[in-house]
Amino acid sequence: MLEKVKTFKGGHAFGTLNGMPKARIRHCGVPMKVVIPLRQGFGDEVKPIVKKGDKVKAGQIIAIDDNSISSPIHASVNGTISDCESKVVCYENNNKCMSENPAAENQNIEISSVTIESDGLADWQNVENYVADVDLATVEGAFKKLYMSGVTALGLSGIPSPHNTSPVEPDKVTNIVINATNSEPFSLPVSAVVKTREKAFITGLNILSFLFPDAEIDIAIDSGQEESIYGLFNALNGKEDFVMKGVYSDGKLPDKLHINPVKPKYPQGNETVLVETLIGVAPGPKGDFSAIEHGVIVLAAQDVLSIYEAVIEGKPLIERIVALGGAGHSVNHCVGVRIGSSLKSVISHRHKAGVESRIILNSIMTGPTLQNLDIPITKSTNSIISLPENKDREFQSFLRPGIDRGSYSKTFLSAIFRKSVRRADTNINGEPRPCISCNYCEYACPVNILPFLISKYVEHDMVEETEGLNIFDCVECGLCSYVCPSKIPILKHIAEGKQKIRIAAAEDAAAEVEAAAEALAAAEAVSATEAETVADTEATAEAVV
Ligand code: SF4
Ligand code: SF4
Repeated sequence: MLEKVKTFKGGHAFGTLNGMPKARIRHCGVPMKVVIPLRQGFGDEVKPIVKKGDKVKAGQIIAIDDNSISSPIHASVNGTISDCESKVVCYENNNKCMSENPAAENQNIEISSVTIESDGLADWQNVENYVADVDLATVEGAFKKLYMSGVTALGLSGIPSPHNTSPVEPDKVTNIVINATNSEPFSLPVSAVVKTREKAFITGLNILSFLFPDAEIDIAIDSGQEESIYGLFNALNGKEDFVMKGVYSDGKLPDKLHINPVKPKYPQGNETVLVETLIGVAPGPKGDFSAIEHGVIVLAAQDVLSIYEAVIEGKPLIERIVALGGAGHSVNHCVGVRIGSSLKSVISHRHKAGVESRIILNSIMTGPTLQNLDIPITKSTNSIISLPENKDREFQSFLRPGIDRGSYSKTFLSAIFRKSVRRADTNINGEPRPCISCNYCEYACPVNILPFLISKYVEHDMVEETEGLNIFDCVECGLCSYVCPSKIPILKHIAEGKQKIRIAAAEDAAAEVEAAAEALAAAEAVSATEAETVADTEATAEAVV
């Protein structure tokens, strides 16, 4: 069913920035070497089941651990294992990582890895090699295919299955939200993954409906993308593929599917904001919200296609589509990349010669700035953003018309020429200045808190007061810092405030445990003394008798 346009309070529409990735996919080919981290997407690190010198096929499971919350990891190329000992730096499940947050900057972690020297051949091994023991026509069989393909690691909290892939059981899933929005600049264009593959996308939805028969399915898609909305809507209604014929269709999809156009404002794609916009949200701090704990799975459009590929084509998750956004790249399109390929090798010959750039992973607003480009593409990689470095101050910039200048205020001509392509570089156009009480940060904040006030309290080391201002509702989208004309690093202050409160709470809890242990020891000492006294009294009594 096509729903009315939905939205949330606050947010910001960035418009069209220079270097937006086009919905065209180019395949990178088979790399000569891959480094496969043994933790990707959601879940724990898993143990390698291969050793140096082993020959492997693309699609072969090389690491698996049925005893932890995890999904298997596969070889992404055909070749020979050359290293199983080294660790590699990764940015996994760092969706709350802030470029301007020094604590979060360090959230890159070292993960054990397996290196494969490729033989250059493009073929891959089918996932059905691993599921011969179950009837594929059953829910059990489909779940096993998803698990054995590694697809259950997708989504911020994994896809629940009987194979210990997520914190909740599959029968607790009440809602599935498909994030097909492009509210954030330089994100992977949904049309790149969905438009030419509607049939596969709809079949993926059918499989989800088959696996989670009681769950409502909500797709969120930008309201500007009418073509995509109606294309999908018509595909769903007008073609027999809507109710997929075959073993994985439960015939219920039409009744429980909702296509929700949403206003294309950032941060609509944020998990907390998206779930609240579409289906409401349970009470509790929004910054600590975990959709899966409320029975909601949030997946990207690309994840639905991976579900299709695993269950229908038997293809393990060995490849990812990644958007190249930003004016630092010489081409702005999407690339199909084998997992484990070096990020440096993916962008090196797609980069503008002589342009110094800042490379940011996955999100221009919340992603980490990469110092080291020798990191592997993983199941979590969605976009690689290259912003030209620009620190030069513009002489009397406020006097310039600014038709190409993105801004939250209506100061520049870009506010009138809404379709103009705006500059996107690393220049913040000024230094921090005192707050001018413009309240832009409050208007833009998607969770209805007072960023300027919280920021000020943290700056003055009054973090306790910020709890009353709902600091933990902050979803760390970074919009307050972006819109602030005084260049105040508001989010940095908020993140520091949260950290200080958490550390203080942990110290209090530790002190309480210590005090309880001391009280227990004192009580034991008293009872030991009493026991000795009783024993002495009894001995005396016996002596008297
Ligand atoms: S306070 Fe938090 S949620 Fe609000 S705009 Fe700033 S970063 Fe986003
Ligand atoms: S946007 Fe910046 S200047 Fe405006 S009220 Fe917020 S902190 Fe102050």
